[in-house]
Amino acid sequence: MTRRIADKIVVITGASSGIGRATALALARERAKLVLVARRENLLVQLEEEIRAAGGTACSMSLDLRQRANVETMIRSTHERFGRIDVLINNAGFGFWGTVAHTPAAVVREIFDLNFEAPLFASQLVIPIMRAQGSGHIINISSIVGKRGLPMSGIYCATKFALQGISESLRLEVKDDGIDVSVISPAGTETEFGEKVRYGQVKRKFKPTGHIQSAGEVAEAIVRCIQKPKIEVYPNRSSRFLVWANAIAPGLVDKIVIRYLRDRLNAAKEK
Ligand code: NAP
Repeated sequence: MTRRIADKIVVITGASSGIGRATALALARERAKLVLVARRENLLVQLEEEIRAAGGTACSMSLDLRQRANVETMIRSTHERFGRIDVLINNAGFGFWGTVAHTPAAVVREIFDLNFEAPLFASQLVIPIMRAQGSGHIINISSIVGKRGLPMSGIYCATKFALQGISESLRLEVKDDGIDVSVISPAGTETEFGEKVRYGQVKRKFKPTGHIQSAGEVAEAIVRCIQKPKIEVYPNRSSRFLVWANAIAPGLVDKIVIRYLRDRLNAAKEK
């Protein structure tokens, strides 16, 4: 059965641009009540106004989610204001372009704080609320590289593998409480991600790999996942083959990566 999205209280992190923004607009069309979270207040306010002008409902919170206290503020304030939280979309994140060997400890800390610990803390805080409601849906935005590591993005991949790991554990732990847990694994998507990527000791700029999908396509996949919850979603369907191939023959996938991602390997060799 398809679930109705209208009037659901949905928290979206990283709503000021890219996938988060597109998802907010798509859910507003379905009449969800949205709580938009990111740091850039001006962009959040603009989005709120755009949603309200189209007849939707949204409010925003400008918060840096690398800090645990801000994750608490996000969940507590939403619960106090609306009395429930139906869907939590953990989407805020950034990438790092550099070799594993040369990733500074400070970057490891920062990227794990946002890409992994913020979704973990937000989930821990929202679970008692969803348990009391007897329903809820936690959606973690991972990546296809949370299934298969690629050169030059090892630490970013690690954050997404970690997110995948807790999602699999959590979905079984909360299954009987009426809480769904989904992982969305987009492939390359046209957003600000590439502009915001942090750089290690490298000369070549980050270049996304393969077919690039629009943020709107990913947003539509997220909307469908709320209507009919799935444990795993691949907005770019063909990327699923990479996951299957890697599970069966990772050595073969290494050969394919060496052949088709030569530029990444060359970038990894440059100092
Ligand atoms: P994006 O356009 O750069 O969006 C990232 C969002 O995260 C922005 O709204 C940004 O807003 C927010 N954010 C960054 N740092 C934050 C912080 N410290 N506190 C709170 N919010 C913060 O990139 P995107 O592609 O839409 O990324 C969304 C998710 O998709 C990420 O988890 C990313 O890993 C994943 N993903 C992206 C791709 C891709 O190719 N684009 C592929 C697979 C997975 P502020 O700067 O205003 O805070």
